[in-house]
Amino acid sequence: MKKTPYLLLSGILFASAAMARDSSTPVYPPFGVDLTAFDKTTKPGDDFFQYANGSYLARTDIPADRPIASRRYEMTDRTDQQLKALLESASNGVGEQPVDLTGKVGAFYASFMDEATVNRLGVSAIDPEISAIKGASDLPALARLMGQGVQDFYPSPFGMFIDTDLKKPDAYAIGIGESGLGLPDRDYYLEASFAPQRDAYRAYAEHLLTLLNWPDPAGNATRILQFETALAQGSWTKVEERNPDIQYNPVSKAGLQALAPQFPWQAYLEGASTADRDRFIATTNSAFPKLAATVSATPLDTLKAWMAFRTADAAAPYLSAPFDNARFDFRQKTLQGQAEQAPRWKRAKTAVGGDDCGANPASCFGTLDWAVGKLYAERYFPAPTKAAITELVGNIKAAFRNRLQHLEWMGAATKKEALKKLDTYTIKVGYPDKWRDYSGVVIRRDDLVGNVRRAAAADWAFLLNRSKGPVDKSDWLMTPQTNDAYNGSLRDIVFPAGILQAPIFDPKADPAINYGAVGAVIGHELTHGFDDQGRKIDASGALRDWWTKADAAEFQRRAAILGAQYAQFEPVPGVHINPDLTMGENIADLGGLTMALDAYHASLHGRPAPVLDGLTGDQRVFLGWAQAWAGKAKPEAIRQATISDPHSFRKYRVNGVVRNIDPWYSAFGVKPGDKLYIAPAKRARIW
Ligand SMILES: [Zn+2]
Repeated sequence: MKKTPYLLLSGILFASAAMARDSSTPVYPPFGVDLTAFDKTTKPGDDFFQYANGSYLARTDIPADRPIASRRYEMTDRTDQQLKALLESASNGVGEQPVDLTGKVGAFYASFMDEATVNRLGVSAIDPEISAIKGASDLPALARLMGQGVQDFYPSPFGMFIDTDLKKPDAYAIGIGESGLGLPDRDYYLEASFAPQRDAYRAYAEHLLTLLNWPDPAGNATRILQFETALAQGSWTKVEERNPDIQYNPVSKAGLQALAPQFPWQAYLEGASTADRDRFIATTNSAFPKLAATVSATPLDTLKAWMAFRTADAAAPYLSAPFDNARFDFRQKTLQGQAEQAPRWKRAKTAVGGDDCGANPASCFGTLDWAVGKLYAERYFPAPTKAAITELVGNIKAAFRNRLQHLEWMGAATKKEALKKLDTYTIKVGYPDKWRDYSGVVIRRDDLVGNVRRAAAADWAFLLNRSKGPVDKSDWLMTPQTNDAYNGSLRDIVFPAGILQAPIFDPKADPAINYGAVGAVIGHELTHGFDDQGRKIDASGALRDWWTKADAAEFQRRAAILGAQYAQFEPVPGVHINPDLTMGENIADLGGLTMALDAYHASLHGRPAPVLDGLTGDQRVFLGWAQAWAGKAKPEAIRQATISDPHSFRKYRVNGVVRNIDPWYSAFGVKPGDKLYIAPAKRARIW
């Protein structure tokens, strides 16, 4: 059950204040900076993040039901309250099996909120899946169910997804990658420091198998962990997975069989309804033979226990309390340090409308996310907001064009290609022009698991059917209610309505703050199209490296300067930032804030920037960026993010960036001897 776009170059991954507001003033009055958030006992040059946010961080507690507290979460909270109102009114008095869009959304929400029915059904809600697993008599029969995992709860060592074809950008391709691990990353299986998490995972498997009345839960749980450990040994690392070049490996059906002959591909493809296709992209191809060998060497009974456990794990949020609680205890509490379950309405909202799909594709499985998005955009993203952000986007693009033209280290040939590519970029804001059709999906007020299953099947059918035609350039990979943004393979940059709110963007705020916050984020996304990964896609959207060797070498040299700075940061004791994993995002942050400052200056048309409450224009641009990232997390969450997230932790997205931008030094009087000070000759200068 995966829906992973393979060239989501750059989900910004903001984990993301609910407050009543007067519609004529900014959310943070009087001009958009939270003046009560500063820590004036800290020098800006020692820790700019703390200076801009210290009082806010001191007065903010991390809530029990999540691992992080942040401004971004406050934005999500605001959206959640809006969605709650919308979903409650849609479910109020809804019929048993409605046919209109609002009714379907309301009935789905009601089916999740009806805890009594969910608890009464218990494990019987997934009888069809568990019986099918039990009844499978050989590996091909199990592989068929693994293939069905694209539209049902079954796990699979190979995950399938559909995205644009990197070398034929007008067509879609079906990708196949690895997806068998139940822990967050292969490191969790292979490194000694994760032994406690492995023990907890083994206990979780035993618990779910016990709830399923599966034979020998303890013995099977041990064998399941051994099986997944073998899969982990054969898997690629996160750093390898970031490279689209080595992932573009087209194969025919026969080619798949030749690549990894120990896996019954025909049955798997039949399960995924793709046996009639003859072209696939095997992303982590060198792992395939190892994964196939592991599967075929594992006794059928162990594979069945694994599939039953992982099916129950995937379905647990929609099952009775014992399943739901077990999953929470392991996945949220043990792995992420979250003390309490989110309230049921919030989980119902995620089940119907999806949540944070870029970061966690599983949470957008089997939803009516685009239907919820349509209702949300209609109600909460007015036309003047769309007009204001569209203008700002244009100014950032112009600032980047100017920077590219004047870059001292980039040769003329590369510049020409870069400018050509920049002109092909479209920036989409708010919501898509076209909406998904849900008229064929049956939604019942009394059948939660059935709703999830049917929504997932409709989603896969939609993607499969669309994949036969030309690429839909108007497509969006994130729903309007999402608090995130991305730079996609359609050479588009997409900012959903959910991220276009304070402190990222507030149409009522002073422009300097908007440039520093959303302007820098837009710039961040734009640079991704031109950096060490983006340079592999040309202006036509095809996978082709358009940089000269000399320019590539110079970029690497400059990037290494930034990488060496980030490698010094230690977010939790003993865990340093991995400069290779975070390189692309760190460069994008630096480029984004640099061009936001340029665009703000250009927007003044030669007039001096106003001084507001003693703060200059440049100061407000930097504060806009620093306050947009305000937040803190539990150590477990920082640790997990530092190991697996290509974005540096929020404090370093501020401190690691500003110290490389000259105007920051003059804006805040930063001097040699200050902790963040870097001599001018040693600052990283890329975009
Ligand atoms: Zn990014």
